[in-house]
Amino acid sequence: MFDFSKHINEGAAILVQVELPNVSSNVKIFMKRIDLVHPIISGNKWFKMKYNIAEMMEQGKETLLTFGGAFSNHIHAAAEAGKTFGFKTIGLIRGEEHLPLNETLQSARDSGMVLHYIDRTTFRERDSEDFLKSVKDELGDVYILPLGGTNNIALKGCTEIVKQITIDYDYICSASGSGGTFAGIVAGLNGNKKGIAFPALKGGEFLEEVISDLVLNYSGREFKNWSLNTDYHFGGFAKLTKELVEFTKNFEKLNGFELDYIYTNKMMFGIAKLIKSGYFKSGETIVAIHSGGLQGNLGMKERINKLRL
Ligand SMILES: *Cc1c(COP(=O)(O)O)cnc(C)c1O
Repeated sequence: MFDFSKHINEGAAILVQVELPNVSSNVKIFMKRIDLVHPIISGNKWFKMKYNIAEMMEQGKETLLTFGGAFSNHIHAAAEAGKTFGFKTIGLIRGEEHLPLNETLQSARDSGMVLHYIDRTTFRERDSEDFLKSVKDELGDVYILPLGGTNNIALKGCTEIVKQITIDYDYICSASGSGGTFAGIVAGLNGNKKGIAFPALKGGEFLEEVISDLVLNYSGREFKNWSLNTDYHFGGFAKLTKELVEFTKNFEKLNGFELDYIYTNKMMFGIAKLIKSGYFKSGETIVAIHSGGLQGNLGMKERINKLRL
């Protein structure tokens, strides 16, 4: 394993007890602040990437190629990781180039990432053998990390999120996009306690199978101690409502730190609702993962102002 400790401080990922707006109950809620391990290579994106970087180095490859949307936290983190650890990065971005670049892509480019744009139809084929072969023919012997950084190796890093939780608890909650982080958490729980994933996208029911497959592929086992809660997508990925924005701002006032506006705020809103509905028992303890994503808040806050939410 390469030595990352000069740049990444996993010890900074403290566990903090939080309060939820308008919730009073005997359920204890903590957040595991993995967003704090690095200002840019932040949150779950670091844990997913760390063993992939090690594997790339092992294979003697010098370039990491990966995929993402124009606001992708993963693209942002991967670019910075390349700059920090000294490898080249290429980002294949869904859709067309829009100039000026948004903050996420500008920052990725400033960190040295080479950006290419792929139309949506081709982007859907990104994992096919044909497409990956054409990428290697054109761009050389690159290490390919799939969308969102999710692959089998990514799960290994995410099992460590669980190992680094030092209190006794009943539930781990995590926001979900591609499902990789939560799959790693399920593998890390190894059948103990319970996990709940909150998909940030609409139609997240498909993640049931995705997560099961990822876990099985990684650990060779099937676990039943987890569930998906698909009720809190707020209309779809990166969609917002006035109620959600208000909740997010109130959370920040109460606890003195930010949630991101795409993933973790929806999860915390969902947890608040579940507590109110009596889903958790009095005295139970929840650990919610603060998976990062704060780089996107600048853009989201502009949108919030424009939409007058
Ligand atoms: C990417 C991301 C997620 C989703 O992680 P997956 O492994 O794709 O499910 C959750 N939270 C934040 C802040 C993210 O940036």
